[in-house]
Amino acid sequence: MAVVVVGSLITDIISYVERLPQPGETIRGKSLFIGCGGKGANQCVAAAKLGAECTMIGKLGPVNDPLSRIHIEALTKNGVQRRLFHSSQDQTGSAIIMVDKDAANAMTSVLGANADLKPDEIDSVAESIQGADVLVAALGIPLKSTIVALKKGRKHGIKIIFNAAPAASNLPSEVYQLSSVFCVNESEAEMLTGEKVDSIESADRSAQILQERGCKVVLITLGSRGAYLKDEANNGILIAAPPVKAVDTTGAGDSFIGALAYYMAYYPKLPLQTMVERSCQVAAFSVQKPGTQISFPTKEELPEELF
Ligand code: ADP
Repeated sequence: MAVVVVGSLITDIISYVERLPQPGETIRGKSLFIGCGGKGANQCVAAAKLGAECTMIGKLGPVNDPLSRIHIEALTKNGVQRRLFHSSQDQTGSAIIMVDKDAANAMTSVLGANADLKPDEIDSVAESIQGADVLVAALGIPLKSTIVALKKGRKHGIKIIFNAAPAASNLPSEVYQLSSVFCVNESEAEMLTGEKVDSIESADRSAQILQERGCKVVLITLGSRGAYLKDEANNGILIAAPPVKAVDTTGAGDSFIGALAYYMAYYPKLPLQTMVERSCQVAAFSVQKPGTQISFPTKEELPEELF
């Protein structure tokens, strides 16, 4: 049983400051943190920390680039198999982030090598997709490469979780049709459907639009309110998130998707609603700790009834 993730890897360089600087101003930061991020890498590590056998397909900068090495170390530490390509001319994707004392942030993100992941590179690692139970794919890499992965997944009857993030305003119809579960957060849903998602009714309308475009199951995550699931029979249900004291919700969506991939691969007989309930529980754990990948819970940290 296995999960394969095709997606982005970004190195986060975060400085903690009292307040965000004005243009032209230099501010002394209090501390610096360099960590691994990118939707693909996060979702892969989230599933691996739960015990899933995972493979990460993506593209980094040159092998010896320190921004690449940190990903290789993090993936190795979490037992993830790597099918990574290295660009000789592009740097590893990076995000320069400043976080102020009220947790407000300003950020620039450079896709770098992620934008250079080529369809034929995906083709060359097709056996990793073929051998998986669940394929997770998101945006942040060239769409044509994502589509090659989705088609390989479909050809081999693999369950596909597609996460339309970072937000996009439109997608080709085959992306909707190739997904087994199409997953977005509120703002991504709004960007794609034009429907502001601020209630159960509007979540249902947004999910309906996505289904009319060819999605089978639609999942809209709603932050502290949980997730809205609309199944293949068009039944919609709100699955509440457990009430917790959140300290850092960065990467909550990635924790949720990694967990869902884990449950779909390892507990395929569970009803989807139960898988989503459990994924909400896992994500609720992650928001109670600071950081992204380091905040994702391991199997040992979670209650037994989730397994
Ligand atoms: P994203 O990180 O993509 O914006 P969300 O904010 O919708 O995604 O969060 C994803 C999932 O994480 C939610 O569906 C929910 O299960 C969980 N979650 C997020 N924020 C909280 C919170 N404050 N309390 C409990 N669970 C949360």
